[in-house]
Amino acid sequence: MRTATCPKCSKTMEEGFIVDHSHGIDTQSEWIEGPPQRSFWTGLKIRGKVRRPVITLCCPGCGFLESYGLLEEG
Ligand SMILES: [Zn+2]
Repeated sequence: MRTATCPKCSKTMEEGFIVDHSHGIDTQSEWIEGPPQRSFWTGLKIRGKVRRPVITLCCPGCGFLESYGLLEEG
């Protein structure tokens, strides 16, 4: 569990994640290395690229969001 203090209002931020509701399923947003490249078949080319699940901290005081790409452990 990551903890952080809001840089805007100094309250303790809460950990969560941004959900993607597309295609009728709920998935966690991911960070993909490099600039987005369009793909006719899948929308964007992400095969073979580094992907990191994204967690986002949210401030309960002002709503400020701060995101982190999770690094692989070990
Ligand atoms: Zn705040």
